[in-house]
Amino acid sequence: MSHGKLAMDLSQGIYKLSKVQQDNSKLFVYWGDGHRSTFHYIWLRDNCYCTLCGNPRHGEKRFRIVDVPLDIEPLLVHVDSDNTVKISWSPDNHNSVYDARWLRQHCYSATERDRRQHRPILWNSKIVTSLPQIAYEQVLGGDAGRLQLLEHLRNYAICFVRNVPPQTVELEGFAQSFGPLLETNYGHMFEIVVDPESSQKSVANSQLDLIPHTDDAYQYAPPGIIFFHCIMANDDGSGQSTFVDGFKIAEVLRQEDSEAFDLLCRYEVPFRKHYSDRIDMQFSSPVFGLDSGGNLKEVRISNLFPAPLDLPEEIIEPFYAAYRKLMQLITDLRYCLKQGMQSGDLVIFDNHRILHGRTAIGRQNQRRHLRYCSVDCDYFHSWRRLLEKNLSFRG
Ligand SMILES: [Zn+2]
Repeated sequence: MSHGKLAMDLSQGIYKLSKVQQDNSKLFVYWGDGHRSTFHYIWLRDNCYCTLCGNPRHGEKRFRIVDVPLDIEPLLVHVDSDNTVKISWSPDNHNSVYDARWLRQHCYSATERDRRQHRPILWNSKIVTSLPQIAYEQVLGGDAGRLQLLEHLRNYAICFVRNVPPQTVELEGFAQSFGPLLETNYGHMFEIVVDPESSQKSVANSQLDLIPHTDDAYQYAPPGIIFFHCIMANDDGSGQSTFVDGFKIAEVLRQEDSEAFDLLCRYEVPFRKHYSDRIDMQFSSPVFGLDSGGNLKEVRISNLFPAPLDLPEEIIEPFYAAYRKLMQLITDLRYCLKQGMQSGDLVIFDNHRILHGRTAIGRQNQRRHLRYCSVDCDYFHSWRRLLEKNLSFRG
């Protein structure tokens, strides 16, 4: 947040305590902008971050919720002139201090929870005219460029980085600057080239087209952020990359056929990857994962590694009807971004939201070479929060 924005918020009284009221289980806080927050005493006591309750620097807590009664009450509540609320608790006389700004930022009223909810920008094939993209030198150039890349990934779940030197050494170091590379059964860097030998292991190395899918659906925790770096492009226009926004597909289905959507949120699809006697990975998951508010959290879609459906008899037919609708949507050109990757292009996307695939690779032209690696989502979001904070302090 800029200093200007902060000043504006203060002038509107968002963080200005005007008064508090109590009943027997909660504290009502009235703010300068007219908003009223409700904080339950048990919540306030639980969220004391003093040195007795834990380590305020790291947010690690020693306080245990079972050490206080559920109906804990304050002995004294005091709004201080330094814009804090100070509470002394019964029965142990523990003293807690709550900064007004912190309280407002954690207010759990319906309006404030709704305001804090991040709203991803859903997209369809028209995104081709306004791609989320950034130049490599801008990302390397400083925090602002790096943050823009991370914001694109948060909003669109995909970002194209241009002018990345098409050398094999480039990707590894860049991806590692975000977090440790994930190890797979192919190692932490994977070459996607047409290779009849290795295509025994991965269909990515064949010439076949691949319909959009999320990667490694058969794992407990599929890779989070995936990088594809184009070292060498096909010059016959074959082997184009395809991307589909899984959240968009989900919302289209929710609109058009809510029963189908509900089935795909409720019942698990099994996935399995096995070959020779070295690998037998299995995991089952609903296609769409939702949070308690019904917002999309993740998608898991792959027709590359299906296992037999294992559902109640009466669900089989409606489920197949729903699943067919889903499969029609993911191959519907209205929702598909098709991109011929050029040498020096890097695409980064969130595998928990974006489906990727490619068109078939021409027989006469097998020069296409992509490098692949992945990093956990946690590191990306961690970097984004840190950079947002750093940049806002600098104004
Ligand atoms: Zn405390």
